[in-house]
Amino acid sequence: LEMQLAQTQKMQAVGQLAGGIAHDFNNLLTAIIAAADMGLERPELDEATRADLIHVRRSAERGAALVRQLLAFGRKQTLQPRVIALNAAIEDVASLLRRLLGQRIVISLDLDRPGCLVRVDPVQFDQVIVNLALNARDAMPEGGRLGIRTGAVTLHRPLVRGQEVIPPGRYAMVEVADTGCGIPPEHIPRLFEPFFTTKRDQGGTGLGLAMVYGIVRQTDGFVAVESTRGEGTTFRIYLPRHEGAIGPDPPPEQHAPRPQP
Ligand code: ADP
Repeated sequence: LEMQLAQTQKMQAVGQLAGGIAHDFNNLLTAIIAAADMGLERPELDEATRADLIHVRRSAERGAALVRQLLAFGRKQTLQPRVIALNAAIEDVASLLRRLLGQRIVISLDLDRPGCLVRVDPVQFDQVIVNLALNARDAMPEGGRLGIRTGAVTLHRPLVRGQEVIPPGRYAMVEVADTGCGIPPEHIPRLFEPFFTTKRDQGGTGLGLAMVYGIVRQTDGFVAVESTRGEGTTFRIYLPRHEGAIGPDPPPEQHAPRPQP
């Protein structure tokens, strides 16, 4: 629980950081990019200065991309949960993944029938699966297999997976497994920390899994990870199973703010 609290506090800190300074920071970066562009237009420019200016511009653009990610992360996104069929959601996102991951990664789906209903924000749920899949891709530069599996899991006692303790309950489970490089055991406790990354040189932000964690926890779910170095990594997401049928979308007035008394 203490770890969860620390995590929540970090997430809030990231949100405040993003909201508070990202905007100013973005303006500064825009000014730097504009100044570099003006410099690059000078006719008398020598090659060395040109190369320097291009470097300045590229770095500022990378900074701007990072700020955009921070903003998306820190934005007070109110989740818009709906009851959806988990398998249908996975099938939808799989076609996007085939394009994102390229030919060298084979995606296989193993979906349980008849499948579970879950109450999630569908857009955020896609984000969770995409983030896990992009990490899997990064872990398999030579290609490999990405397996996505769904199932119904009923826990009668707490399930302990490394650091994670999943309380008893009826869950819909999604597993995202890769055949990549694996994760060293000493990194596992830090994976969901905002800004923890081993890909700083490749432009990693360390926000992908923090985002996964945030969305899943806000949906009353849990994330567990298992990894073997050189063999691969498996992330499992447990979401509370929604019992009953898919209802119609809520009528619009339900979204409207309540009148003040
Ligand atoms: P980023 O991908 O920007 O580094 P993430 O929060 O998504 O940030 O991931 C944090 C770190 O966790 C990664 O830098 C990597 O070291 C590790 N990681 C995450 N997923 C995997 C995976 N499927 N295989 C191996 N390492 C992973």
